[in-house]
Amino acid sequence: MTNPLLSQTLTNGFAVPHFDRIAPEHVGPAIAALTAKLDDELARVERAPGDTVRAVVDALVDLTEPLARAWGTVSHLMGVKNSDALRAAHKDAQPLVVTAFMKVAQSAPLYAALVRVQESKEFASASTTERRIIEKRLRDAKLAGVGLTGDARARFNQLEHELSELSTTFSNHVLDATKAFALDLTNDDDVAGLPSSVKAQLAQAARLAGNDTATAEKGPWRVTLDFPSYSAFMRHGQNRAHRRALYLAYVTRASSGELDNGPLIDGILARRKEQAQLLGFDDYAALSLSTKMAGSVAAVDALLDELATKSTGRAREEEAELDALAKEGVPGVPAGSTVEPWDTELLAERLRERAFAFSDEDTRPYLPLPRVLDGLFALIHELFGVRVVETKGLVPVWNDDVRFYRVVDARGDDVAGFYLDPYARPADKRGGAWMDDCVARRRREGEARARVPVAYLVCNGTPPVGDTPSLMSFREVETLFHEFGHGLQHMLTTVDEVDASGINGVEWDAVELPSQFMENFCYDDATLIGMSGHHETGEKLPRALFEKIVAARTFRAAAMMLRQLNFARLDLALHTTYVPGSSTTVWDVAERVAKQTLVRQPPKENRFLASFTHIFAGGYAAGYYSYKWAEVLAADAFGAFEEAGLSNVVARREVGARFRDTILAKGGSAHPLEVFRAFRGRAPETTALLRQSGLLPKAA
Ligand code: ZN
Repeated sequence: MTNPLLSQTLTNGFAVPHFDRIAPEHVGPAIAALTAKLDDELARVERAPGDTVRAVVDALVDLTEPLARAWGTVSHLMGVKNSDALRAAHKDAQPLVVTAFMKVAQSAPLYAALVRVQESKEFASASTTERRIIEKRLRDAKLAGVGLTGDARARFNQLEHELSELSTTFSNHVLDATKAFALDLTNDDDVAGLPSSVKAQLAQAARLAGNDTATAEKGPWRVTLDFPSYSAFMRHGQNRAHRRALYLAYVTRASSGELDNGPLIDGILARRKEQAQLLGFDDYAALSLSTKMAGSVAAVDALLDELATKSTGRAREEEAELDALAKEGVPGVPAGSTVEPWDTELLAERLRERAFAFSDEDTRPYLPLPRVLDGLFALIHELFGVRVVETKGLVPVWNDDVRFYRVVDARGDDVAGFYLDPYARPADKRGGAWMDDCVARRRREGEARARVPVAYLVCNGTPPVGDTPSLMSFREVETLFHEFGHGLQHMLTTVDEVDASGINGVEWDAVELPSQFMENFCYDDATLIGMSGHHETGEKLPRALFEKIVAARTFRAAAMMLRQLNFARLDLALHTTYVPGSSTTVWDVAERVAKQTLVRQPPKENRFLASFTHIFAGGYAAGYYSYKWAEVLAADAFGAFEEAGLSNVVARREVGARFRDTILAKGGSAHPLEVFRAFRGRAPETTALLRQSGLLPKAA
């Protein structure tokens, strides 16, 4: 029997992994075989890399794609079907993979071949896409150390290995620390204030933990640090002592004992700095910005400063409102209190209810997942002209909750496919939500049909309870739209070259454009009300409730803005001026940046950096600002729909088609500023984002 990780056979037309057969024991042999094969092929390609732009690019993709795809499958399973056996297999295989990719990236003959085609006569007449691909490949080779020799090269490579291991450990620590904590509650006092849907959720968690008799009404209830569980308790739980315990557990995850990420943070930052300096950069931020749309730390600082200046005044007012409410007192925060960090979520939720008289729990019954999906798919069809079709048994999946959908064009041909893994599954699935590349679109010269792209869409929504479908909070709906936006860019690409198809080759700080763009539709009445339907009565989301949702969008928007700016500035500070191992610690830097940015300071105990996986285990190092950068682009892009008139069906279809043909279709085949201009007719502006956040007066 062949190793399923090595099998390249199509399943009903889709080049997807054989999730029904892949097991941890396949990882080692598959990666060993693929890295050995890559070694052989590398030698061959180095001797004869081809001499046209297309031939060189194809040879390079062919060289690494089999390993990249198998490793992509393993990484995906680490996120959605984690187990001790898989982790061990991943850990053993990782060094082989890192070495193999480094060898290719640092190959002098391949680099020479790229330089040769760049200097050839043909290059000037090559397509923009091909030129950009060659230039990026050259740049990436330099950043991978192709110009380093001798000791410098050896040291660089050693750092690379250590960094990838440190990141994996960092991320595992966070996962383990999140899993290690649970608050088991038995008395009514413990769960006072919790809506019944939350109690049902907590009882289900208790049953999963072996407490077979747990019920929503009588308990016992289990609260975990899994985000939906944690956040529900922080917003509604009136037991202040429990909130305090939960808060402290959450913000100190992976910051002590066996799972302490503290030392890893310094280790990671020191190695990044050293790598950057080996490549001739002052610091890691300069290296990071050299590949991004923003281009320089100064350009990022300018944007962050502008947004901070325009948000701070309003943020002070927002915090004063919390202080006033704490003085007055609410169930769970006695009158005369000063606001503690474990009070802010609850107080904010009460203020929200007071100002808008609704909570997340009010919207849930109207937003069952199946209806939300139907609405989302109808919108996609209207705007972008493609239909989404659910399938059963068409391709294998990794869990029974996972579904696979085909995306078809007007003729019924497959344009793309995607998996949707909708629910939280703390036992073996990472928290958060994400979109990832399963299969990238590719069409070789002479091929009639392109390989169909496939996306992974992973959310951590509230699972169904008994016969009740998954009832989504408005925020969960927004998250789904967000990830779907990423998915659209991956799936509706028309680029044939893997290096630039879908999200590939898109500058990191422009990647969140389509995702944040899609979130805007959740605030469009026709879309949200249209797709709603009470799970028992079918009744639409009441208009008054919709209007409250829209009003709530700017609720504490300035505080949220400052929170993101704080993360972004801290990330940059750690990757520019911070000196690892010096007497100033990362916690000191966190405190200094918070003082500079936030209106309300986090408590001394706060160690959130120890679980800041975005910058220590994800791709956001010296790039967290990208969220804000892309938000400016996304709000401005959505502005085009607002200007055309959201209720004007003809106009919005036309703008939708333009969005599809530029931002979604072109992906990484041109500079993001150029793609943005093609859609919007001008460079991006911050006005739309500030207005959307309620920080500018409404347009006349
Ligand atoms: Zn995103």
